[in-house]
Amino acid sequence: MPMEPLILRHGGSVGWIEVICGSMFSGKTEELIRRLRRAQIARQRVEVFKPRMDRRYSETAVVSHDENALRSTPVDSAEQILLLAGSADVVGIDEAQFFDMTLVDVCQQLANDGKRVIVAGLDQDYTGRPFEPMPQLMAVAEYVTKLHAICAVCGAPANHSQRLTNEEGRVVLGAADRYEPRCRRCFRPPRPTSTSPLKAAAPAATAPRPELP
Ligand SMILES: [Zn+2]
Repeated sequence: MPMEPLILRHGGSVGWIEVICGSMFSGKTEELIRRLRRAQIARQRVEVFKPRMDRRYSETAVVSHDENALRSTPVDSAEQILLLAGSADVVGIDEAQFFDMTLVDVCQQLANDGKRVIVAGLDQDYTGRPFEPMPQLMAVAEYVTKLHAICAVCGAPANHSQRLTNEEGRVVLGAADRYEPRCRRCFRPPRPTSTSPLKAAAPAATAPRPELP
């Protein structure tokens, strides 16, 4: 499976959206950086954005777990990306799950303006539910790459981020101190409910995004 969409020569200035998704520790940011670096080498103008709330590492760089960093601009909202993307040929967005649904329209507009938009983010939250706006971005994207980590329990391909603490709330920032990758069989969602997962997921889609602790 090719890791990167086949970039054909498009007529005129046609843009598109690429989504890189998966669980924590699946290498999403590394893949985003790899694609952006290759564009930089080709002297394309690259701008990188991430939500300001992700303060785990550096304030001004997209930093992956292997410390392979790329300079980025922290933004408070998705709309700011539109204002700051300016004349970029390629727009990278990391930790996209921390933006609200406005990000979908922002990415669409950037692509409509002829830009290559590469979005990386978690596709599921710690309960295993789709993490908006990633599902919506995946639907409108031209290309979707789903990456996997390796299950910390059994070694199978891991699709889930297992939270190791009892903290509640959809957004609890952390890395190996709070999460580990798990496969479908080893994943243990917190406080499993007796209701259907489909019913349980419905209200979450419209519920207000929880604040940071
Ligand atoms: Zn497993």
